[in-house]
Amino acid sequence: MKPRVHLPGSTIGVMGGGQLGRMFAIAARRMGYRIHTFAPDEDTPAGQLADREIHADYDDEVAVRKFAKGVDVLTFEFENIPIQTIRWAAEHCEVRPGGDVLHISQHRLREKEFLSAAGFPLPAYCPVANIRELEAGVAKTGLPCVLKTASFGYDGKGQRKIVAREEVRGLELGGEAFVLEAFVNFSKEISVVVARGAGGQTEVFPVCENIHRDHILDLTVTPARIDSLAARAAQDLARGIAEEIGLVGVLAVEMFLMPDGAILVNELAPRPHNSGHFSFDACLTSQFEQQLRAVCGLPLGSPALLRPCAMANLLGDLWSHGEPDWLAASAFQDVKIHIYGKAEPKPKRKMGHLLAFAADAGSAASLAGAARQALTASIFDGGNRGEAGR
Ligand code: AMP
Repeated sequence: MKPRVHLPGSTIGVMGGGQLGRMFAIAARRMGYRIHTFAPDEDTPAGQLADREIHADYDDEVAVRKFAKGVDVLTFEFENIPIQTIRWAAEHCEVRPGGDVLHISQHRLREKEFLSAAGFPLPAYCPVANIRELEAGVAKTGLPCVLKTASFGYDGKGQRKIVAREEVRGLELGGEAFVLEAFVNFSKEISVVVARGAGGQTEVFPVCENIHRDHILDLTVTPARIDSLAARAAQDLARGIAEEIGLVGVLAVEMFLMPDGAILVNELAPRPHNSGHFSFDACLTSQFEQQLRAVCGLPLGSPALLRPCAMANLLGDLWSHGEPDWLAASAFQDVKIHIYGKAEPKPKRKMGHLLAFAADAGSAASLAGAARQALTASIFDGGNRGEAGR
C-alpha cells in the first residue's frame, strides 16, 4: 500500500510541548503546515508557536480523542507519552512513528532486548528486579557497573554507579524494574540522528561528538572528531536500527566509541534529539524538517552539513545571578542564539542553546564556549555591566 501523503496546508498534531516540538513547529510552519500541540502545561515552548495549543492530561481520553480528530497526522516530541494515549489517538488519525517504536524506546530493558536480539552491539547488561538478581547481575557485568531504572530515565536520572560489591546490599530497589549495565571506559560519546520516510528512504546526519556535564549534554561538536571508518560505522548502525525498528520519523542513537574502535549503542530516542540541534542552522535539511517530511510522507531532504559547528546548551543555572547578557552573546557574529520561551529558569533546565560556526570543529567548540561565557562574564567582572548588562 502506498503511504499516505499529507501536503502543505494539512494539520499536524504534536504530543508534548517542549523545545523539540517548538523547533518542529518552526520547520512545519515554514513549509505551510498547521500545528496543534497537546501537553499538560500551558504556554509551552511548542504551544507558543502552534496554531492551537491544547492543554490537557495525557490520560484525558476525551481530550486526546478530540485532539486526534482535529489533525491529519500525529507525531510526538518526547517518548514518555503513555502508550494508551497513542492508541486512542491512532483510532482517529495516523500516528508516526507508530506506537510500537514508542513502546520499545519507553523502556530500557525492552529497548536493549530489541537491540540485542537484532545483533546490535551493546554494553553487557542484565535485567534486575531484586537484590538477589542485582548480586547475580554484578557477577555478569563486573565492576564498576550502572544500575538504571527501566522506565522514565533521561539525562542520567534514575541512575546509580556501583563501584564496590558492598554497595549492593544497602540498596532499596522498591519493586521497580532495572537494567544493570557494565560501566564502559569509552573514548568518546557520539550520536547519530537518522531519518526514515514512510516509503523506507533513509537519510543519516553527520556524527556528533557529545560532551556531558553532570550527566546532561553540555556541548555537541559536529562533525565528531573521529576517523572516517568509525563515523561510517556509526552511521550504518543508526540506519540499521531505523530499518529494524520500522521507523517513520527521526531516531537518535546515542553511542559509546571505545578505545579499540568498537561502537556500543547506549540509548535510542525516536524523535529529534538535543545533540541534533546543530542541524537546525547547519544542515541543508534539519532534523525537524526531516521529521516533518517523514511523518507527512514526503521525500526526505539532504542532511548535508554546511559548516563545522558546535552547540552549547544553556541551562537554567546561567540565570542564577539574573538575566544572561544577551547583548554580549549576540556580538558574536558566527553564533546563533536559540531561546525556548520557558518562563522559569530552574537549575539544570534546558532553556536554550548557542550554535557556533567555524572553519573546523575544534574552533567551533571554543567559540561556542566563549559565547556562552560572555552571557555571564559581566556579572562576575566587578559589577561593570555597562549597557549590555541591563
Ligand atoms: P543515559 O541516560 O543512559 O544516556 O546516561 C547518561 C550518561 O551517563 C551517558 O551519556 C554517559 O555519559 C553515562 N553513562 C551511561 N551509561 C554508561 C555506561 N554503561 N558506561 C559509562 N558511562 C555511562
